[in-house]
Amino acid sequence: MPSTAQVGFVGLGTMGGHLAGHLHKFSQERHGRPALVWNRSPEKAVRHAEVHGTTAVASLGDLSACTILCLCLSTTADVEAVLAQIPLERGALVIDATSGDPEQTKALAAKLLADRGIRFCDAPVSGGPKGAEAGTCTTMLGGDTPEDIAAASELCDRWSKKVVHCGPVGAGDATKCINNVLNSAHLLLATEGMLALKSYGVDPATALEAINGGSGMSLQTTRLPDNVLSRKFNFGFALGLMRKDCNIAGALVGSQTPSATLIPRVVELLGEAEAEFGSDADYTQVAQLLEKRAGVEL
Ligand code: NDP
Repeated sequence: MPSTAQVGFVGLGTMGGHLAGHLHKFSQERHGRPALVWNRSPEKAVRHAEVHGTTAVASLGDLSACTILCLCLSTTADVEAVLAQIPLERGALVIDATSGDPEQTKALAAKLLADRGIRFCDAPVSGGPKGAEAGTCTTMLGGDTPEDIAAASELCDRWSKKVVHCGPVGAGDATKCINNVLNSAHLLLATEGMLALKSYGVDPATALEAINGGSGMSLQTTRLPDNVLSRKFNFGFALGLMRKDCNIAGALVGSQTPSATLIPRVVELLGEAEAEFGSDADYTQVAQLLEKRAGVEL
C-alpha cells in the first residue's frame, strides 16, 4: 500500500534551503514523493524546486496534509506565526530547526498539543551553511516522547553527522543558545589574544599556526585565518541572528546561574557589535569591534 506520509519544509534561507534538500531525498526514498516547500519570498521556493526537484507550494494552507513538517525560520515567534496559518491534522509532527527560545518553544509545543493535537520537537543545528549543505551538522534535539524522538532523529540524521537528544522539548534550544554564546566567546577571546600579539610584534597568522597545534586551540582559532585575517568576514551567519542566540543564552544564564560574569559580557559585546555594524553583517565582524577599540587591525 502506498504511504500516505507527506513531508514539508518552511523557510528556505541560508540553512533551511540545504536542510530541505536533504529532507526531499528522504521523502523520495522513503515515501516515493517530493517534499513540499514554502518560503515567504516565493522566488526562493520556485528556485528550490528547480534545483532540488521539490514541489513549491503557493500558500501555507497547501501544507495542511503534511504528516511531518520541518521549519527553519529566524525566531520562535516566526515559527508560531507560521504554524498558526497551517491547518495540520491531529498527530502531525513538527520538527523545528530554528535556533529558538527554549521557554517560548516549550509554551508553543504545549499549546499545539493541547489545542490541536500536534506533536513538536525542537531540533536546532550547528554546522553553518557548509555543514548544512554537506549534511554534517550536529542536531540538538528536544522531544518529549520516544516516538517523537525516534521520528525526529531519523529525519535529522539526513543533515547531521550527530543527533543528540538533549532532553524534553526546549532542551535542544537551550543547548543551542549556549553553543552559540560559546562560539562567540571563543571568537572574541581569540581576537583579543591576536590583537595583543600583533601589537607586541608577533604575526597573528604565525601565532595561530603555533596555537592551533597547542592547548589554546579552539574551532574559532582554526577559523580565524580564513574568516578574519583574510578580511573576508564571510562565514554566512548574520550578526543579528547570533545576537539573538546570545540574548537567549544571557536570559538562560541569568535565570539559572546569576553569579555568571563571562557569558553576560559576551552578550553585551554582541549587542555592541550589532549596534556598530547592523544585523545583516556577518557575525565574524565582532572581531572588528575589538580591532576598532584596540586601534589595531589583524
Ligand atoms: P536566513 O535569514 O537566511 O533565513 C531565514 C528564513 O526564515 C527565510 O526563509 C525567511 O524568509 C524566513 N522567515 C523569517 N521570518 C519569517 C516569518 N515571520 N514568516 C515566514 N518566514 C520567515 O537565516 P538562516 O538560514 O541563517 O537562519 C535560520 C535559523 O537557523 C535561525 O534561527 C538561525 O539562528 C539558525 N542557524 C543559522 C546558521 C547559519 O550559519 N546561518 C547556523 C545554525 C543555525 P525570507 O526568505 O522571505 O526572508
